Amino acid sequence: MISVDEAIKTVLEQTPRLDKERVGLEAALGRILAQDVHADMDLPPFNRAQMDGFAVRAADLNVVPARLRLVGESAAGRGWHDQLKVGEAVRIMTGAPVPVGADAVVPLEQTHEQVSEVEIFERVVPGQNITPQAAEARRGTRLLEAGTKITVNAVATLAAFGYATLDVGRAPRVAVMVTGSELVPVESCPERDQIRDANGPMLQCYATLAGGRVERLPLLGDDAKRIAQTLADVSNTYELLLISGGVSVGRYDLTKEALGSLGARFFFERVRLRPGKPTVFARLNDALVFGLPGNPVSAAVTFNLFARTALLAMQGARSPLLPETRAQLKTKVRGARKRASLVPARLQTDEEGRLIAQPLRWGGSSDLVSFAHAEALIFVPEDAELEANSVARILMLP
Ligand code: AMP
Ligand code: MG
Repeated sequence: MISVDEAIKTVLEQTPRLDKERVGLEAALGRILAQDVHADMDLPPFNRAQMDGFAVRAADLNVVPARLRLVGESAAGRGWHDQLKVGEAVRIMTGAPVPVGADAVVPLEQTHEQVSEVEIFERVVPGQNITPQAAEARRGTRLLEAGTKITVNAVATLAAFGYATLDVGRAPRVAVMVTGSELVPVESCPERDQIRDANGPMLQCYATLAGGRVERLPLLGDDAKRIAQTLADVSNTYELLLISGGVSVGRYDLTKEALGSLGARFFFERVRLRPGKPTVFARLNDALVFGLPGNPVSAAVTFNLFARTALLAMQGARSPLLPETRAQLKTKVRGARKRASLVPARLQTDEEGRLIAQPLRWGGSSDLVSFAHAEALIFVPEDAELEANSVARILMLP
C-alpha cells in the first residue's frame, strides 16, 4: 500500500499532457491557459478622467473661487484634442481623455457652469481625478501566465486586451462508468434492495468543474463481461475513465478483474487513506483509469485527490492539486492507524478572524447527506490525533 503523497506523485508521473485547443472567450471559463496573456495596448490608453466635471490646470485654481473660460467638451469616445491653455477649462465626462495641458479634473459638484465660463469653488492638486495612461497595464506587459486557471475575474482582462479567442489546454474526454447491481438512475424509483446512483451525477459534475468534457455511460451493474466490454469500447475514445464501485474485495467487486482481463497496467490498487483505501489507478490503452470506491464520500475524496489532479495536469495546470490552507480545529480529530485521514469539514471564521474547521458529523464514508455540507477536508496524518484548537492542513473542495 502506498501513501497519499506517493499516490499523487504517481498520478502526476503517469499523466500525459494533452495538446492545446483554441476556444472563444466565453468558453474559456474554468479552463487552463496554454499561452501567456499580454497587454496589446496601454490601459488606460490615455490620461482618463475618473469623474464628470471640468479638466483644468491645477495652477489656475490657486485662488478660489475662480472663473475659467469653457473652450470645449471631452466625452467618452469623443475627446477634445486641442491644447488647454492658461485660464481655460474643458467639460469632461468619466472615461474621457484629459486634454493635453490639463492636469486635473474638478468634480462637477464643485463647479457652476455659465454660458461660456465655469466657476470653480475648490482647489485641486495636479493629477487629481485622473488615471494616468498605462496605470493599469503597459503595452507588452505579461498579465496572466500559461498554466493559470481562467476565473470569471480574469475574463474582463482577457476581453480588454482583445482575446476573443485563446489557447487553453484541450479538455480531457472523460467517461463516467458506474458499477453496482443495486443502483438505479436518479429518475427511477428504487425497488426492493435498490438505491439511486449518487456517484454518477457527482463525478460528472466534479469532472466538468475540473475542465473535462464528460459523458456518463449507462449503469453497468456488477457484470464482469459487461464492464470489460464497455471498458474495451471506450478506452480509445476517452483520455480518462472514472469507474465508481467494485474495487473492494467483495465477491461482486469486478472492476479490477475486468481491467486485468483487458491487460490494463496497474499503478496502484490501494492507498493508505481513509476514506478511499481501495482506489485503483491504471492505464488501459490510451486512457487513464481511476477505479473509485463506491461509497459516495470515498468516491468524492479519491476523485478530488487523484482524478482531479490528473485532469488538471492533462490541461497543463500549474497547480493541479486541491488548494490548501490552514485552520484551527474546533474539536479533536482522530486519525487512523497507518492511514492518512481526510475528514470532511465546514469552515467558519471566529471573532478574532481565525479560520476554524469544524468536522462534519461523521456517519462514515456512506454519509452523503452529511457530506452535502462539506467545504473542505481536514488532513490528518497517519497515526495522528489532532487536538482541539491545534492548526491543521485543510484541502479546499471545489
Ligand atoms: P462498492 O465500492 O461497490 O463495494 O460499494 C460500496 C458501497 O457504496 C455500497 O454500499 C454501495 O451500495 C454504495 N455505492 C456504490 N456505488 C454507489 C453509487 N453510485 N451511488 C450510491 N451509492 C453507491
Ligand atoms: Mg458495488
